[in-house]
Amino acid sequence: MIDLTASEIRDGVRAGKWKAREVVDAHLERIAAVDPKLHAYLHVDADGARAAADRVDASGVKGLLAGVPVAVKDNMCQRGIPTTCASKILEGFRPPYDATALLRALAAGAVPVGHTNLDEFAMGSSTENSAYGPSRNPWDPTRAPGGSSGGSAVSVAARMTPLAFGSDTGGSIRQPAALCGVVGMKPTYGRVSRYGLVAFASSLDQIGPIARTVRDAAMFLQAFAGHDALDSTSAPAEVPDYEKDLEAGVKGLRVGVPKEFFGAGTDPGVRAAIDAALKVLQKQGATLVEMSLPHTDYGIAAYYVIAPCEASSNLARYDGVRFGHRAKSFDGLIDMYRKSRTEGFGEEVRRRILLGTFALSSGYYEAYYKKALQVRRLIKNDFDEAWKKVDVIAGPTSPIPAFKIGEKANDPIAMYLCDVLTVTAPLAGIPGISVPAGFTEGNLPVGLQLLGKEWSEATLLRTARSYERETEFWKRSPAL
Ligand code: GLN
Repeated sequence: MIDLTASEIRDGVRAGKWKAREVVDAHLERIAAVDPKLHAYLHVDADGARAAADRVDASGVKGLLAGVPVAVKDNMCQRGIPTTCASKILEGFRPPYDATALLRALAAGAVPVGHTNLDEFAMGSSTENSAYGPSRNPWDPTRAPGGSSGGSAVSVAARMTPLAFGSDTGGSIRQPAALCGVVGMKPTYGRVSRYGLVAFASSLDQIGPIARTVRDAAMFLQAFAGHDALDSTSAPAEVPDYEKDLEAGVKGLRVGVPKEFFGAGTDPGVRAAIDAALKVLQKQGATLVEMSLPHTDYGIAAYYVIAPCEASSNLARYDGVRFGHRAKSFDGLIDMYRKSRTEGFGEEVRRRILLGTFALSSGYYEAYYKKALQVRRLIKNDFDEAWKKVDVIAGPTSPIPAFKIGEKANDPIAMYLCDVLTVTAPLAGIPGISVPAGFTEGNLPVGLQLLGKEWSEATLLRTARSYERETEFWKRSPAL
């Protein structure tokens, strides 16, 4: 049962071939068996999951996700379920409401099994910044699964759930998906409601699907995309049928290959896998177009000013007053704020708050924040120019495969540099997908990243599916 795809599970539940309850029991059993080794979960809600499955079985209506077990990244609010963002400052917090994307998945019959580990407040690329310890990569448990949605990617890769919610601010869905050998998509800014997603950087954050197959990702996104009156940044645009043209192939599609996506730091195993992937697309009738996105290398510098600036503002709400951690002893209000925040936030989160506060302060605002916004515009212009010549842009999701736990933990710059190929899409607001593209010689997964213009999710899914049909890397599972 744990090897079934989400659409197979749903079809079987609809046809009466099996019960949602049997499906969730099999997955809960799998979690109990492998998660002690991988630590994908911060909280498993077995009773809630069984009750949700029973409700699906009892209901006459079998929705798009009927009986499909789903993991929820621990920065998405779920009523009554501990939601900590992997931070001590939110320890014990149980939200009084559900995130809209989750509510929609529930309405479609999804069965939420628990909350997954992440870098604290989604700040990181390895899940090592979790206050509750790192998750481990199922392909090699001495390595990181990527981040920040590391727990979600591990859950899907290790067959603990066929689907998981992720959130992507600078790569947090696509990069862990790539490093764990699963599919992950960051939708266009505004495609998905962020109501109930704990804010990190509000001009960048998007919720998206993590799945084993492209069809499952399409189906999952379908269930939760679309306008929400509770999120004014969600677009009032029609959501297309993402499964309709999924098998239509790539004949005539112009695929841009930017030279900047294959820089000096690219691992040779990654390079070889992506070269082979491009040949597959070419063989299937796509035209490869050599091109340039000249401002790619400035993405990291712009992102690591803009994201911390927004974070420093968003995280000001954790003051120990209404919810979360409060210092035991203090001397007045200011001291209570200072002690609660110092005790509650981990090192990377404190670094970002300090960076952001500095970059926004009078006298530095023009030099850093404003400059970063100008660079962001140049990056967006690069993409706008590109869409005149190509339909899709292809390259690696990450320049390197999964790295050892501890290898970069004490070198923030080295960690930030991992994001060079993923930060530009959220800076430009465009969608991106990572699809399994084989393995390095060391048997570590490689991800093919496809980027497209705003609202082109259907094209990205169709391209990814075309490639997946030929290669079927998703069928391999890690030995655990
Ligand atoms: N690794 C990036 C960061 O640390 C992106 C994280 C994310 O997308 N949430 O900010």
